[in-house]
Amino acid sequence: MLTIRRDTVVYAMSPENAPAARAQSGDTVVFETMDCFGGQIACPSDKLGALDWTRINPATGPLFVEGAEAGDTLKVEILQIDLAEQAAMVEAPGEGITGLMADAENTKILPVQDGQVRFNDRLSLPLCPMIGVIGTAPETGAVPTGTPDSHGGNMDCRRIGAGTTLYLPVNVPGALLAMGDLHAVMGDGEVCVCGAEIAGAVTVRVTVVKGQPLPLPFLVTQEHAMAISSAEGLDAAAEQTTLRMRSFLMEQVKLPAHEAGMLLSLAGDLRICQAVDPNKTCRMELPLGILAQLGYAFP
Ligand code: CA
Ligand code: CA
Repeated sequence: MLTIRRDTVVYAMSPENAPAARAQSGDTVVFETMDCFGGQIACPSDKLGALDWTRINPATGPLFVEGAEAGDTLKVEILQIDLAEQAAMVEAPGEGITGLMADAENTKILPVQDGQVRFNDRLSLPLCPMIGVIGTAPETGAVPTGTPDSHGGNMDCRRIGAGTTLYLPVNVPGALLAMGDLHAVMGDGEVCVCGAEIAGAVTVRVTVVKGQPLPLPFLVTQEHAMAISSAEGLDAAAEQTTLRMRSFLMEQVKLPAHEAGMLLSLAGDLRICQAVDPNKTCRMELPLGILAQLGYAFP
């Protein structure tokens, strides 16, 4: 199987990045990933302020998908996420929301075993692996891997896990898919600026869908479909994701405008993905059963 090693990384999503590998539409590819610290935190004495910041948020890739052209959609089925044996976290003054009140830098190492993340001697949390950074190249320029935007990127959406399908925009030939920043577990908001940051490997199937029939980025899990939107503030991200789902219900599911709005108000859940990155990210989730009742099938 095609594997992209974890030493083949980018720190910005850009059309200028040389492809690390090439795949056909329908191929399965493994992306080995470093943690968001570039592996620089191995023990509690490794502090955030001492890190080499040019090595933060490495994303493995990019993968060139043959046949993908600007204006298409890249369908990324996340088949499997394998994790390393320990995760790392930091809290530091000025970082994230809780960092507004933090008075010292602290690092925590969290062992991962038997499906659990050991938080401390008194508490373990169930493993819930997710991808923090996953995106395609923007049409022009270079977006740092720490920034989420319409190309995906650092969305830190905890729903992006194994068994889900993420749809991303193709802005340049080949799409140039890259990913990294796995979390062993993370809550909505990511309030202390990180999840349980961990290295690992992600197995995906990539398929080119012609045109853009969905508001992108768009995620389908076992239970929900959702638009994911990033903007400078949480208010703007919340509005954008809601209005994108409204457009989807009108254009693809063929509901009249007022019913699209009403349905989102009745059955849609507007949630925060993360509130700590350079752009903030929200999602609007709708149960799959509702779309099935309305006779909608995903591309
Ligand atoms: Ca992240
Ligand atoms: Ca992270």
